[in-house]
Amino acid sequence: ENVNNVSISNDTKTINKDDEPDEVNLAEASLLVKIIRKGLIETGTSLDIQRKDPNSPLYSVKSFEALHLKPELLRGVYGMGYNAPSKIQETALPTLIADPPQNMIAQSQSGTGKTACFTLAMLTRVDTTKDYPQVLCLSPTYELAIQTGEVAARMAKFCPEIRIRYAVRGEDIQRGTKLTDHVIIGTPGKVQDWSLKYHAFDLSKITVFVLDEADVMIAQQGHQDQCTRLNKHISKKTCQYMLFSATYDKKVMEFAEYIVPSPITIRLKKEEEVLDNIKQYYVRCANQEIKYQAIANIYGVVTIGQAIIFCHTRKTASWLSSKMAKEGHSVGVLSGELTVEQRLAVLDRFREGHEKVLITTNVLSRGIDIEQVNIVVNFDLPVDRDDNADCETYLHRIGRTGRFGKHGIAINLIDSEKSMQICRDIEKHFGKKIMLLDVENSDEIE
Ligand code: ADP
Repeated sequence: ENVNNVSISNDTKTINKDDEPDEVNLAEASLLVKIIRKGLIETGTSLDIQRKDPNSPLYSVKSFEALHLKPELLRGVYGMGYNAPSKIQETALPTLIADPPQNMIAQSQSGTGKTACFTLAMLTRVDTTKDYPQVLCLSPTYELAIQTGEVAARMAKFCPEIRIRYAVRGEDIQRGTKLTDHVIIGTPGKVQDWSLKYHAFDLSKITVFVLDEADVMIAQQGHQDQCTRLNKHISKKTCQYMLFSATYDKKVMEFAEYIVPSPITIRLKKEEEVLDNIKQYYVRCANQEIKYQAIANIYGVVTIGQAIIFCHTRKTASWLSSKMAKEGHSVGVLSGELTVEQRLAVLDRFREGHEKVLITTNVLSRGIDIEQVNIVVNFDLPVDRDDNADCETYLHRIGRTGRFGKHGIAINLIDSEKSMQICRDIEKHFGKKIMLLDVENSDEIE
């Protein structure tokens, strides 16, 4: 299948001006990560499990056999090239498929196998002797629903009796239709139409209710309300809830706890650990021009594999890139005005090494892994809407340099007292020293 052929519908596009902060569109970012990813991301971070009932044993499995799946499903899993479960899978799956069913709220970074995890649990629960929808999976956008559906279809390859149906734009049903598919994967609006408006299936008969990408979901206007409305018709007694998300800020957690009754939660342990193998520096610069000089200096002395430079606005990104290009550096630029296809093309070129530097904005701050990158420069420090330090984005940006046990360097360019303060706040938040770097004398960088 050609998954690269995706474009984002206009309703999910952010409208940004050049000199405004380039905002992350979570759905786009997440889709990009899914498309571009070539495999599983292994992280050192361990998971933290909180059970409602401390006596209920929670065990993990090291092999897919140990899950005692239907042989056809196991064949499907192996057919996808999975040999052993990932961390989130080994932790969550035994609980997800055990009887009696238990509700779960789970967190793990993008690319760590969440989709494969809940898809397998969904398929395990299907009862093909019953001809009506039993499993409902809500995704925040059309494109993400299709991605999940493709995983489900591949995993169910040897279970032809399982019928999967997309409830997304472009899929229409006649009034009076009664669906006989077992699994519905769709977006909240369409699912609401089919269930509550057309009565094509009965929400109270749903035995597995999955909310995928909960963080993206609630960032999407109106989706939270639609989920809540659908949830009113789900039978809390007989339905198993599975909620998956890459991040859990306060809003996501509130939503999760509102929707999911008495869940077992699996959350990432202190994310700070990710920063362990990254050396962090800051450089004092008087203004934007000097910041540019600092980059040029760093370039002169450090053997750089590849670098990613983060700017706050598209305007700065384009200013910086033309300046660097003029001086003969090969640079790529990735910012919010590009379509998903264009972004993929830029990333592919960078990944193949055509450019050594990628200049970008916050649109790239989520989980894109490019192994060769060993230096990340924050041309502007990440701030939230209120201009306070955005530690989560900082972690997303620089976290990627130190993946796979390699050492990375993060350099923060400071051009005002305000940005110095932000730098200190970040340092304090993670409890990891950010050292002063004297660019004139850069022996300090190993
Ligand atoms: P997430 O939903 O957390 O973003 P995915 O489930 O999409 O992650 O998995 C990320 C990538 O890793 C996908 O390409 C998927 O096919 C692959 N993958 C998932 N589970 C395994 C596994 N157990 N072994 C090998 N590859 C896996």
